[in-house]
Amino acid sequence: MSPSPLESARSQCPYCGVGCGLELRPPAAKAEGAGEDDDEDPSGRGRAPCAITAPDGIDLPWTSRGDRLHPSSLGQVCVKGATVGETLAPNRLSQPLYRASREEPFAPISWEQAFALLVERITTELATRGPGALAMYGSGQFLTEDYYLAQKLFKGALGCNNFDANSRLCMSSAVAGYARSLGSDGPPCCYDDLDLADTVLLIGTNTAECHPVLFQRLLKRRRKQKTRPRLIVVDPRATATSDAADLHLAIRPGTDLALLHGLAHLLIAKGDLDRAFIAQATEGFEALAERVQAWTPERVSRLCGIGEAALREAAAACGGGNALLSLWSMGVNQSVEGTATVGGIINLHLLTGQIGRPGAGPFSLTGQPNAMGGREAGGLAQLLPGYRAVAQAEHRAELERHWGLAPGSIAPEPGLAVWQQIEAMERGELGLWWVAATNPLVSMPSLDRVRAAALNCPLVVLSEAYAGTETAAVAHLLLPAAQWSEKQGVMTNSERRVTLCSAFRDPPGEARPDWAVFAELGRRLGFAEAFRYGSSAEVYAEFAAITAGRLCDHAGLSHALLADHGPQQWPFPAGTAPGGGQARLYTDARFPTPTGRARLVADAPLGLAEPPCDAYPLVLTVGRYLGHWHTMTRTAHVARIAKAHPEPLLEVHPGDAERHGLVDGERARIRSRRGAVTAKVQITERIRPGTVFLPMHWGASQANACEANRLMHELGCPMSRQPELKAAAVDLEPAWA
Ligand code: SF4
Repeated sequence: MSPSPLESARSQCPYCGVGCGLELRPPAAKAEGAGEDDDEDPSGRGRAPCAITAPDGIDLPWTSRGDRLHPSSLGQVCVKGATVGETLAPNRLSQPLYRASREEPFAPISWEQAFALLVERITTELATRGPGALAMYGSGQFLTEDYYLAQKLFKGALGCNNFDANSRLCMSSAVAGYARSLGSDGPPCCYDDLDLADTVLLIGTNTAECHPVLFQRLLKRRRKQKTRPRLIVVDPRATATSDAADLHLAIRPGTDLALLHGLAHLLIAKGDLDRAFIAQATEGFEALAERVQAWTPERVSRLCGIGEAALREAAAACGGGNALLSLWSMGVNQSVEGTATVGGIINLHLLTGQIGRPGAGPFSLTGQPNAMGGREAGGLAQLLPGYRAVAQAEHRAELERHWGLAPGSIAPEPGLAVWQQIEAMERGELGLWWVAATNPLVSMPSLDRVRAAALNCPLVVLSEAYAGTETAAVAHLLLPAAQWSEKQGVMTNSERRVTLCSAFRDPPGEARPDWAVFAELGRRLGFAEAFRYGSSAEVYAEFAAITAGRLCDHAGLSHALLADHGPQQWPFPAGTAPGGGQARLYTDARFPTPTGRARLVADAPLGLAEPPCDAYPLVLTVGRYLGHWHTMTRTAHVARIAKAHPEPLLEVHPGDAERHGLVDGERARIRSRRGAVTAKVQITERIRPGTVFLPMHWGASQANACEANRLMHELGCPMSRQPELKAAAVDLEPAWA
């Protein structure tokens, strides 16, 4: 239910995993308190009024600004959070739409008809091919309540583990890496560690543009303390992040693990270790020492393409008893050796004892606003709610008891990860592919294969807030979704802080919250009692109870507590006082492994799955711009963001541009084994020779379309099944050739 137009509302920003607090205020409230407590926008772009359609149809200009009461962001906000209100009303889906074939236009149908179609398809597939013919691909845009009920419906009621989410493309290597090294998923750090670290290693992350509020916090401290924290940036490309670094290691793409082994080699060779911690709290030291022995500074500097002195300088800054904080995101995770590389990062912390201490630890920065909540709710094909695993019999049994299901109801094998869902559709094995709150026809690799696979599926359903996305072009049934601001529920940000996101607007037309759609479908499929909920608060209460005793313990949290006392960090067991959640994990150096020890892992670096060759001599890497968010379904509608980033630019080193006959400002054709796209050329020395860069935002439906992910391959990390979206071999030529 929406508040009165004169009330302000509090929420978590629905863009990135920093999870800044936002305060949403209508103009009257702003006028009353304007000026005296306005927050500085660290992007320097100020705040914007937000045109929001009120329930009575009148356009109300709301303002979004940083919430000073939110402990994660303390009133800070970037351009995306500052303009999110402008994105909420335009271009919305407001009614279910259906077409029997893609040759027909969509026509409006009722929700009654939409549910009848879903029930008929699901019951037919269950009766004929079984639950393996169903699959859902969800999103870190889901609230935890949406995620949780999708798991209960698919993995519980339907016996189908084929639920995966776009976190697979973003964070699944971090999930697998934490679990492998530490015994469980879960970032052990908190944002206060940014203020306490001596050295911050930023590897595979353009934090300045992708997690800007955190980066501004680092810079603010640097302005005060001059030499602290020391910033080491590892990225083949010079970025706004590396511009602020004390040391920029512009390594060749695909050599991150070799670099990390080189750092471990130097720490061990110099005895720059916390031997007591290693002896007391870890296992695997001998195997790691043997593995990294061969990764000498000479070899690593040659392979990575960096100076040996720089490597030694980095090792000295990571050791020496310094509080070491490592930040990473997709540059590490989106790799065929993503999980191994996460292990290489965690190794540095275990060797030096820099974990579970103020200012120290391995800290993955999450992409989507509630990817963390999704992991907690079991929102990947191998997971169950409460950081449980499908493959573990006792975990399945616990969920079956919680859900009132017969023993054996949950299938024992992990479901299909998203690329496996694509392959299953290619083989004609899926009768229903249900996509929700995401746009895989832009964000997946090898887009031509994704498109063809989707066209081979007899029923593609898309739950979506916005009209006209690229994925809608392959769908049969469009379900209008109530989005953030229109439904109440929780999100968890990268520092494990749970925020209640309030509903302060009504959804357009017939749009419904995803959790309510899953509950209604569950009831119609014969699970009336199991899916009887009066509110999202009831859904969250059930989820929170299921997490009791787990690392991600929400059991002491409720919508009411979060509304009364504000955002809280987990673990938050039942009986915890407000503010009593745990800021850091593993402060006692005990880890949730069978031995209680963390594992030093020792993988052999393998490099890129698709290295450059004579036909495709360059490595294409993709990334993001400060203003845009993923596939631009929201940010394309913000005028000043569109003005700041009007089109995608291909960054090319001058030497490569000359070799390929490219001219600055003209267009180039970029070819990989999977297809070709064109983009305007930007010749720059900020990218290392042999590497080129494109942003991933522009899908086929956008002006200046440039489907960068069309060029990328689908091969992924064997442990996390995360595709290597950061590197593919390409060739360049002038677009007019
Ligand atoms: S840093 Fe992320 S969470 Fe914070 S305002 Fe910007 S987009 Fe939103």
